[in-house]
Amino acid sequence: MSDRLQAVKGMNDVLPADEPLWRRFEESVASSMRSYGYRRIRTPIVEPTRLFVRGIGEMTDIVEKEMYSFVDSLNGDSLTLRPENTAGVVRAVIQHNLLHEGPQRMWYTGPMFRHERPQKGRYRQFHQVGAEALGLPGPDADAEMILLCQRLWDDLDLVGISLELNSLGQPEERRAHRDALIAHLEAHHELLDDDARRRLHANPLRILDSKNPAMQGLIGAAPKLMDHLGEASRQHFDNLRRLLDSQNIPHRVNPRLVRGLEYYPLPVFEWVAPIGGSLLTVCGGGRYDPLVGMLGGKPAPGIGFALGVERILELMREQSVETETGQCDIYVVHSGEDTLAAALHTAERLRDAGVDVLMHAGGGSFKSQFRRADASGAQFAVVLGPDELARGEAGLKWLRDEGAATGSGRQQSVPLETLPDSVIDALLTDSDDDFDFDEPERQDDPDDRQIH
Ligand code: ATP
Ligand code: MG
Repeated sequence: MSDRLQAVKGMNDVLPADEPLWRRFEESVASSMRSYGYRRIRTPIVEPTRLFVRGIGEMTDIVEKEMYSFVDSLNGDSLTLRPENTAGVVRAVIQHNLLHEGPQRMWYTGPMFRHERPQKGRYRQFHQVGAEALGLPGPDADAEMILLCQRLWDDLDLVGISLELNSLGQPEERRAHRDALIAHLEAHHELLDDDARRRLHANPLRILDSKNPAMQGLIGAAPKLMDHLGEASRQHFDNLRRLLDSQNIPHRVNPRLVRGLEYYPLPVFEWVAPIGGSLLTVCGGGRYDPLVGMLGGKPAPGIGFALGVERILELMREQSVETETGQCDIYVVHSGEDTLAAALHTAERLRDAGVDVLMHAGGGSFKSQFRRADASGAQFAVVLGPDELARGEAGLKWLRDEGAATGSGRQQSVPLETLPDSVIDALLTDSDDDFDFDEPERQDDPDDRQIH
């Protein structure tokens, strides 16, 4: 019997080979958020279980069957690994009285945990990026959220992500619809699955979100909440749609879009995209005006969205979104003890100049070091042997030339003094434009001078 240790089922390792993709994604997220004035908030991964029960609702998939909850053996408290982060963010906003300073625009990213059946695009530990705007009643803030998403898709060069919208109205409007909906579902009781029967009276709206193929006909024919909206809700929705039109954001009204949460009012939205041949939701959001009050704060409106990072990354893979190689530019080859101090110094100077350097470690012949240099993916090797150093020079060897493997590739001697400049020149001319040279901060730039 094998006792090989393995990751928990449904929880994935993200290996270094995937780093370029993740980095491209994370940098786009950070810059998109910044460009709308959203500031990052980091809340704990573990929260009191009752936060989610109250904030998400008892009759939801998440709270009913997907939470990783455990008892804190020190004091008997029930704690839960966060299945989503809106509740945590709102808790933090209330706890630190942030709304006292005015409306808050915030974003977060990190792992979420749900005990689901693992399958492609559905994991037990997955990642979300989300944004929350609190203290703003919309629909201007709603439009801003959607524009932010669109900017992110554009920044990631993703195509084919389409926007669906619905309005869930206000509680009294939902009540009228609810009665009609229950009557419709009861009239076809024999077609309801177990989940639907259980929710028929507790959370009938959620039945519309069922993925059970056998119930799709019934759901398609159900009364539409949209037809029960009052004047104010309708106007909010129409205004949002007009704002989206004015910014050329195409969208489709989907009357079956309900999202998970019983008490969420007004507009809800989802971005859907074809991934691996099926249409999946990559991002969902909507207003949650009652939430701040429900969690014990002074009532304040809110809207947010959460996107599934793994699904967006999958889309990036499918659409072959370009990423940087994630490899170092330079591999430093040296001849051990006598040259080590000089090699370290040279590597540091190259890094000062913004070049990414992999320094050979662990000794070995030049031949074996060149093998490692080649495997590293670096463009160039900088060679520091005793002879070169005695002349105040380094060898610069082109690793990606045709003849590089057989030793007939280009190589030249460069004075150590000017090595960083020569390396940057060589990288800029030889590395098909993908050298991401970070200009180091210049102390002599008057604009950068610190005021003391
Ligand atoms: P579904 O109806 O597909 O279960 P959901 O309503 O539970 O989705 P949300 O809670 O709205 O999903 O989460 C927002 C996004 O997070 C989803 O659109 C999806 O992209 C992603 N997501 C949700 N659950 C998972 C999971 N188990 N694994 C990977 N991504 C997930
Ligand atoms: Mg779910």
